[in-house]
Amino acid sequence: MGHIVIAYHLCVGCGACAEVCPDIFEMIENKAWLKYSDDITLCEQARVICPVGAITIEEDEK
Ligand code: SF4
Repeated sequence: MGHIVIAYHLCVGCGACAEVCPDIFEMIENKAWLKYSDDITLCEQARVICPVGAITIEEDEK
């Protein structure tokens, strides 16, 4: 398992992640926020589409 991390200093507020994965991301004051961060499979599209690479998936420590 892993979890989704948004690098807020990189996010430019384009809204692409919230468009492709509205169950996981929402836009608040021009930044992407996580609504739900457990389903890393679902967010793969958002990770790829983010133009600045602000979305990463970190492995949970075992
Ligand atoms: S796709 Fe990336 S830059 Fe665009 S709102 Fe989402 S996290 Fe921010």
